[in-house]
Amino acid sequence: MSNEFYDNGKKLIGYEYYDISFLKPNKDCSTCDIYNDYVCSYCEIETVSGTPNVKYTDDLEWVIKKTMKSKIHKNLLKIKKRLDKKTLREPKTRPQKIDRINWDRVNIILNNRYEK
Ligand SMILES: [Zn+2]
Repeated sequence: MSNEFYDNGKKLIGYEYYDISFLKPNKDCSTCDIYNDYVCSYCEIETVSGTPNVKYTDDLEWVIKKTMKSKIHKNLLKIKKRLDKKTLREPKTRPQKIDRINWDRVNIILNNRYEK
């Protein structure tokens, strides 16, 4: 696996692959497939672009600046701590359900990226 990334032909220094496994298919999108957990590239770009320090390379891969990792990790842990307190096992109202979805996402990211 190459660790050289290019953006518009310009070499990116200090970047690594950005894990986008947290993406979920958009049920209102006709191209995404919620049954096969497929996220279309339009929704992927819509969701991921604009994330600080994340770039889309010439090889069509997402990368993130390495130095930002620990900051993101810290932020995720902070979010998790906040959500741990208020997230319910069986959410009923819409805000409770959103908390639960976010809690699941944060945990998936933390497990996939940091606890290996
Ligand atoms: Zn889509």
